[in-house]
Amino acid sequence: MDYRLPTTVVPKRYDLRLEPDLAAATFSGEAVITVEVETTLTEIVLNAAELQIQSASVAREGGVPIHGSVALDEEAERARFTFPASIAPGEWRLTLRFTGALNDRLRGFYRSTYKDATGQPHTIAATQFEATDARRGFPCWDEPAFKAVFGVTLLVAADLAAVSNTAASRTELLPDGRRLVAFADTIRMSTYLVAFVVGELEATDPVMVGQTPLRVWCVPGKKHLARFALEIGAFSLDFFERYYGLPYPGDKVDLLAIPDFAAGAMENLGAITFRENALLVDEAAASHTELERIADVVAHEVAHMWFGDLVTMTWWNGIWLNEAFATFMELVAVDAWKPEWKRWATFGVSRAAAMGVDGLEATRPIEFEVRNPHDCVAMFDLLTYEKGASVLRMLEQHLGADVFRDGVRLYLERHRYANAETTDLWKALGDAARQPIPAIMDGWIFKPGYPLVTVEPDGTGLKVSQRRFSYLGGDADAGQRWRIPVVLRASVKHGYVERRLLLDGDSATVPLPAKADWVVGNSGGTGFYRVRYAPALLKKLAGAVARIAPIERFNIVSDGFALTQAGLMPAADFLDLTARFTAETDRNVWSALTSSLAYVNRVIADSQRGALEALVRHRVADAAERLGWEPQEDDTELDRQLRGDLLRALGTLGNDEDVQARARAAYARYRDDESSVDANVLPAVIAILAASGGEGEYAEFRDRFKRARTPQEEQRYLYALAGFRQAGLLRQTLEMTVNGEVRSQDAPFVIRALLTSVDARGVAWDFVKEHWEAMARQYPESAYRRMYEGVPALVSPEWEQDVRAFFADHKIDLGGRTLQQYLEQLRVAVAFQQREAEALAAYLLRQKPR
Ligand SMILES: [Zn+2]
Repeated sequence: MDYRLPTTVVPKRYDLRLEPDLAAATFSGEAVITVEVETTLTEIVLNAAELQIQSASVAREGGVPIHGSVALDEEAERARFTFPASIAPGEWRLTLRFTGALNDRLRGFYRSTYKDATGQPHTIAATQFEATDARRGFPCWDEPAFKAVFGVTLLVAADLAAVSNTAASRTELLPDGRRLVAFADTIRMSTYLVAFVVGELEATDPVMVGQTPLRVWCVPGKKHLARFALEIGAFSLDFFERYYGLPYPGDKVDLLAIPDFAAGAMENLGAITFRENALLVDEAAASHTELERIADVVAHEVAHMWFGDLVTMTWWNGIWLNEAFATFMELVAVDAWKPEWKRWATFGVSRAAAMGVDGLEATRPIEFEVRNPHDCVAMFDLLTYEKGASVLRMLEQHLGADVFRDGVRLYLERHRYANAETTDLWKALGDAARQPIPAIMDGWIFKPGYPLVTVEPDGTGLKVSQRRFSYLGGDADAGQRWRIPVVLRASVKHGYVERRLLLDGDSATVPLPAKADWVVGNSGGTGFYRVRYAPALLKKLAGAVARIAPIERFNIVSDGFALTQAGLMPAADFLDLTARFTAETDRNVWSALTSSLAYVNRVIADSQRGALEALVRHRVADAAERLGWEPQEDDTELDRQLRGDLLRALGTLGNDEDVQARARAAYARYRDDESSVDANVLPAVIAILAASGGEGEYAEFRDRFKRARTPQEEQRYLYALAGFRQAGLLRQTLEMTVNGEVRSQDAPFVIRALLTSVDARGVAWDFVKEHWEAMARQYPESAYRRMYEGVPALVSPEWEQDVRAFFADHKIDLGGRTLQQYLEQLRVAVAFQQREAEALAAYLLRQKPR
């Protein structure tokens, strides 16, 4: 089936009038679409889904309308209007009357509900149109290249707020008591960026950023949680106007917290929607991680006002132009806002996550064919966002930050109010850099995977060589080569030497003035490749970890574990390597260490768990002891977060009884005095109490989840309910994911967490097999797919067989190559288990108890 619309009729302007009825969960509307007809025709085809269209007519300006018949094709998500007379080329007005239902699936024009402090239910009507759901809100040419101007009018009950992309230009009280709100015309933009939000919402006072008022909207009673978002919102809006050298393209910015929201946030021009925990926060009670997430998401969405909204990809295969750039720019802005957060170093974790997927044979290139709406949904993944942002960062570092910014300005300037493709970006960056970009970049964007760079001694110098990295060791594309900006730093007799080269063949020899003591193969850490060191070099480097940058240490651990998963490094060698990091002070390096150990925990037999717990305690104890439980005067903000991370690792993965007892004592104090536990330690305490607690804690946490005062508190207690170890309690949590107690926006991620836990995965998998159809119906599609991210944690040959049989029997389409990726990750883990079981058992047996 061809999903693309014909271009014989092109929309120029939509005048939309929407009348949502919140109590009945329905809406009615009228669309007057000014179109340019290119050839004589009697039929007009556009997108519509789950709408009833009562009438369709076309007319010349001021002319007599020609009424047409309507045929809906739900499968193709199209409406076809046939007219009794032919329509000549030129400008026409197409007038459509339609009705629809405010659905509960968090897409299109949908209904979000919440209870106020007294338990009274309330309803909000909101939109989520990306990628292809504007057609569920009004009939339209629902493809990004059909840009048009939108003039929106909303008719709402008089006591409700109404928000759309632009400022209200006129409001009027109607005789029937309703209020009409007409909004100013938008810029030329794509349908997926249109937004309407209607409900009992309150707004903060506006913060002025130049000429642009910025506000936060939320349900009543939460305005006091908006301050932090306003701050980063104002900073990033101002920052981007300067960076891009172009004014903000709208007339106001509203940031709206919606109680039910499928994604993290959505960059509707001027009316950016968020899930509550990505916007609202009590700054004093939040951890660093929670604040960082809000800063990231707000900056990301504001970056989109230019990248995505002002200049838009021509088709969904180019979504990386939106998402990779917004992710890259989010980091640039947050790094400028809070340099002490070292945001680019933390980005190493995201880069490694993208490499986790991109090392699979079932990966895809960043730019990838998209045929239908299902494939569109699958494009919103780690490869588009994180790999995309990583290769942009690599290019920025290669060209220089100023040259890169000049190229970005040129690109936006050339294509504003229009659409663009990857080649347009290369052209602009190339013009700024005075060098051809495709030669460097095409291998990273249009080809799947990434290189493994091997570094070996070669005389006094080094030999570097490349091949494609693969977890399964297949060599389907063994001949694939990249142009890799390699940066080497070597410690030689009198200090360091740095060597930069663009490796584009199989290998190159790098001369050094003297034999290297140690060498870092991805100095600065921005290269999107993994490094494999000759054993002698790795040994020297492991002895010098105190002298290299945190991101470089992070890469040693992350690359080392990937090599272990791929069978290129024995697991015992990797576990030995982790012993070099007991004095580690960086939070990201610790996250690489603990996530690797958690992976090993999913692979080993139950009988070995005690020995692994002892190993975890050995690795973590010194660093945890150094930081203690209380904030210290000389703590950096990252130290404070690390303190929580280390205590959590000890109390859960390390099953440390002392830490668990102290966590119980800390929580007992917290019940009486909330200020007695540091905001970065409290989430860890809650997680530890779940991992070591029973029915009492479960009942308390469930209650606190329901009565949570902030979105962060709600999330902590919700995920704690997935962290208990008793099957009976875990079954209660599982029930909550299908009985409405957990919002459908969160439930798939709770399932994912349960599948990933060694204690819960068995019961969780059985539950998924039983309830997957109900879940598919209840959960938003974009989140439902992601619950299966937990499947690769089902590490045993029997489970693997069962998982494969399940998907073979049920034909569950997750879009793109998503399912193959999950199955391959499971294959990698089971192969790891089969390869390493004996060696791991012997290694763990040798560990001294601690
Ligand atoms: Zn985005």
